[in-house]
Amino acid sequence: MTEVRVIGAGLAGSEAAWQLAERGFAVRLSEMKPVKMTPAHHCADFAELVCSNSLRGDRLENAVGLLKEELRRLGSLILQCADATRVEAGGCLAVDRYGFSGMVTERIRSHPNITVISEEVTEVPAGPVIIATGPLTSDAMSEAIGRYFGQTDYLHFFDAAAPLVTLESIDMTKAWYASRYDRGSADYINCAMTREEYQAFVRELAAAEEAEVHGFEDKNVFEGCMPVEVMARRGEDTLRYGPLKPVGLRDPATGREPYAVVQLRRDNAAGNIYNLVGFQTHLRFPEQKRVFSMIPALHDAEFVRYGVMHRNTFLNSPKLLDACYADRRDPMVAFAGQMTGVEGYVESCASGYLAAVSMAARLEERPVPDFGTVTAIGALAHYVSDSTVASFQPMNVNFGIIAPLEQRVRGKANKNLAIANRSLAHLEAMEK
Ligand SMILES: Cc1cc2nc3c(=O)[nH]c(=O)nc-3n(C[C@H](O)[C@H](O)[C@H](O)COP(=O)(O)OP(=O)(O)OC[C@H]3O[C@@H](n4cnc5c(N)ncnc54)[C@H](O)[C@@H]3O)c2cc1C
Repeated sequence: MTEVRVIGAGLAGSEAAWQLAERGFAVRLSEMKPVKMTPAHHCADFAELVCSNSLRGDRLENAVGLLKEELRRLGSLILQCADATRVEAGGCLAVDRYGFSGMVTERIRSHPNITVISEEVTEVPAGPVIIATGPLTSDAMSEAIGRYFGQTDYLHFFDAAAPLVTLESIDMTKAWYASRYDRGSADYINCAMTREEYQAFVRELAAAEEAEVHGFEDKNVFEGCMPVEVMARRGEDTLRYGPLKPVGLRDPATGREPYAVVQLRRDNAAGNIYNLVGFQTHLRFPEQKRVFSMIPALHDAEFVRYGVMHRNTFLNSPKLLDACYADRRDPMVAFAGQMTGVEGYVESCASGYLAAVSMAARLEERPVPDFGTVTAIGALAHYVSDSTVASFQPMNVNFGIIAPLEQRVRGKANKNLAIANRSLAHLEAMEK
């Protein structure tokens, strides 16, 4: 059996290891946890979700919904485990964070073709290898990858995580269960704020003391994961039009739409822990407690985890990688996950899948599966490796990177659905 190494058992590495093992390769999977932890990982299990427990939207009219459906149809391990550990969250696929990681770990550890090695890898080994050590790759491995490419072609931005609170500490006399527009079941806890409460909150948030993060400036954050205090500084109404938007939510106490609403999403299957949606932050911990306790329903909130921020490192992939996430100079050395510049849990998993099935085909001297640019999974890989992209930034999947339709379709939702159906038809028909 040909042996393939996979380094890092996060979202990308777990998926890659599974796909290779399922195709009959002997996989040696190296993961440094729990011997060595990154600053954002807390548990020993694989595929740990470092911040939100949501894998985002789950409808086909939504690009990440399409990417998930593609992965489901392709037999993704991450999607199987996510679907099996789902917790209700309106139109999103949210999971029980520990149940999900526990299940991925159990499936990987019990696969007869996978050997798990608990070690920090500090050199880029000879191929065949897939390196998926994530945005928080250990320092020694970061340096090794820099040396490997003969340059420091590493870019970075900052990513923040949101805090978690216990259900029993939320004042439910000032909050209520509902989903926006009453769609689906009432999955979120909604904490209303009056105009005065909101204004005082935004003032304190904008001025609150931040934790020291070396090299961090407000402009250097990923727009999709911007710290809540950075948003507050951009203008008084920024949050009210962002994560605190009240539209589609009616406070049963007043019968009206509140001025602003903080939403809390269930974080585990037991339903005793909730996360503050959109509250990525890097305030000092006492400041998080002081300022977030100004939200009326959270005046006595017990924080089981505070938000944190970390430097998030990725490769200059348009210069270095091909559309299979492999080194252009040596296709037996591939990279996957956030370190390639894809952004997000599902995107990381998708890159792990594509890197693995491409490597498998190359090893078996078969044609590499052609996902094209009509599928979300293929379009993402093409975007990341597109050498004409001048200023490369991490990329969430979106319909803008997928090939446009050849025919005109009226209405955005109809158009997106047509793109999704075309993609699923392509997957069905293609050689895998
Ligand atoms: C603070 C923060 C918050 C984030 N919040 C979100 C969010 O809310 N939603 C979202 O979609 N995405 C979020 N992200 C992005 C998130 O990291 C990715 O979406 C996803 O986890 C990346 O998957 P990955 O497999 O590339 O890396 P990871 O899931 O981080 O996995 C990498 C694995 O490699 C291991 N490793 C590292 N170095 C070595 C080494 N030298 N040897 C062996 N093993 C090693 C690590 O221990 C880890 O298990 C966040 C990222 C950060 C840093």
